[in-house]
Amino acid sequence: MICNIAVIKGDGIGPEVVSEAMKVLDAVAAKYGHTFNYEQLLMGGCSIDAHGVPLTDEAVARAKAADAVLLGSIGGNTSTSPWYKLPPNLRPEAGLLKIRKELGLFANLRPALLYKELKGACPLKEEIADKGFDMMIMRELTGGLYFGDRETKEIDGVMTAIDTLTYNENEIRRIAIKGFDIAMKRRKKVTSVDKANVLDSSRLWRKVVEEVAKDYPEVTYEHMLVDNCAMQLVKDPAQFDVVLTENMFGDILSDEASMITGSIGMLASASLNETKFGMYEPSGGSAPDIAGQNKANPIATILSAAMMLRYTFDMDKEADAIEAAVQQVLVENYRTCDIVSEGTQLVSCSEMGDLIAERV
Ligand code: NAD
Repeated sequence: MICNIAVIKGDGIGPEVVSEAMKVLDAVAAKYGHTFNYEQLLMGGCSIDAHGVPLTDEAVARAKAADAVLLGSIGGNTSTSPWYKLPPNLRPEAGLLKIRKELGLFANLRPALLYKELKGACPLKEEIADKGFDMMIMRELTGGLYFGDRETKEIDGVMTAIDTLTYNENEIRRIAIKGFDIAMKRRKKVTSVDKANVLDSSRLWRKVVEEVAKDYPEVTYEHMLVDNCAMQLVKDPAQFDVVLTENMFGDILSDEASMITGSIGMLASASLNETKFGMYEPSGGSAPDIAGQNKANPIATILSAAMMLRYTFDMDKEADAIEAAVQQVLVENYRTCDIVSEGTQLVSCSEMGDLIAERV
């Protein structure tokens, strides 16, 4: 298969970790007979330096023309970098918001997986960590409270702030379909999270999810109130497969789920639109404190590339091969500086990429 991938290495550790993900993709291409064509684009601080804006319209057009986007991270040190003296619409993050909007990415996927070998980093009780967990938090990204009308005004002499939470049935249906599709590629369970005991938007959410569920008889599904879900994530995370939820609940729950894995350098993510197109990136930032030192953990980006193979290109066995290679290096006790512990072997960013590529 021939795949055209727009590559945005970005700033800080972005170029280092994306280069390792490309190394692993090249190993997949060689083994399985695919061709990955890369087109490198600028976004973030490097684009400001080159073009005066964090993302050019030309870069957007080229990203749209690709089959998928592989992204590192953007931004610099927010206290010292000159990029943060610019007006907000010209800062690095404005590029990220623009590309997400332009590409119509409405579904955000964040896997939270506890590797047996890293369970020491899990902040939960030992008996809970021992059971492990492997879930996918699926968050609606373009609707709800963060995109509703808002205003702050004086009402009867009292300053009052109003935010509105709106979802229509089409917005709910398209994310629910994605959630059930993804469950079909996993352990076939969906937990739909809402606050249907209070919110109208949640009652509509529940109704539409039930309609969509009828088309997926193999998938078991349940509804869970968001406050209960927040508790269950720390009490019994092993119960979850796909957690499907709206924007604000997903924002909070995905950070909670990430936190219980204990290691930011391991966390992949994907944002998808209605087609197979997606943008794949590590959950962490550009880590300016370790940039340029060949120290960063490239695994989050390598696992993001595996998600790209699985969700955009339907290359399940190739994605499995990358995930198994990551597991294997951990079993063999290789660690980058963020996850190193006594009795394990410290390796650099590029060495970690080599080790994983060799095991694909
Ligand atoms: P960060 O995630 O960059 O760093 C937080 C801590 O985690 C740092 O100590 C860093 O060294 C460590 N870390 C992160 N990724 C790592 C990896 N792969 N390997 C080893 N250690 C890793 O968060 P921050 O310091 O708050 O932000 C730095 C910059 O990144 C800011 O400009 C911020 O706006 C930007 N940012 C970008 C994105 C993105 O591109 N999507 C996301 C978050 C933050």
